[in-house]
Amino acid sequence: MNTKITLSTILSVLFFNASILNAQELMDPKETEVWEPVPKIVEPGEYGQPPSDAIVLFDGSDLSEWTDKNGDEAKWNINNNALTVVPGSGDITTLKSFGDCQLHIEWKAPEHIVGKGQGRGNSGIFLMGLYELQVLDSYNNMTYPNGQAGSIYKRHIPMVNACRPPGVWQSYDIIFKAPKFHDNGELKSAAYITVIHNGVLIHHHTEIKGPTAFIGKPPYKSHPDKLPLLLQDHGNPVSYRNIWIREY
Ligand code: MG
Repeated sequence: MNTKITLSTILSVLFFNASILNAQELMDPKETEVWEPVPKIVEPGEYGQPPSDAIVLFDGSDLSEWTDKNGDEAKWNINNNALTVVPGSGDITTLKSFGDCQLHIEWKAPEHIVGKGQGRGNSGIFLMGLYELQVLDSYNNMTYPNGQAGSIYKRHIPMVNACRPPGVWQSYDIIFKAPKFHDNGELKSAAYITVIHNGVLIHHHTEIKGPTAFIGKPPYKSHPDKLPLLLQDHGNPVSYRNIWIREY
């Protein structure tokens, strides 16, 4: 690296900065005020509750926003305002489709510990039905880190492990940017995800390189801008509550 700084360089930088300061002093501060567009008003929710413009996907009462893989009624259990996986009943998906979104979802691994590694408290949140943010009981439960709670399954390890113990409610706040495709099917821009787990940042604008698979790392395949959200039945009675989403 060339570290030689001449006197003339220093003087020209000083002169340049002085002229910017001068221009700023002469400027009317109103020239940099932007008055439009005025952001619309959203009533924020209290402590993770849905804001006024959110689409509520599960408020504890019913599964009217959900379906099973055959398009029939979702068969997971509702108890005490929580939705619990009925092992063997299959994944459930939303009736509505979503692309770019902010998603809030709370989950809880079973209090009674059964199994270990990937077999303990496993479920998953599949954005667009394709990109899995792992749900797993990763509290004192070792597995491959790109498969632990908060991982983008088999793609990205979370920055930290912010898991609460089994039987305790946890939250994910997710900001997802859907991938976009050209008309010829080629990828235009990848998916990006930011995740806050129990108030702790675990992914910051992480680029997702393709859809989730158990084996291998498949490339992107062109799909619509919006697809249903999917919750995984991985054979463990994981619970969910307070699920809401905002499109942006
Ligand atoms: Mg899973």
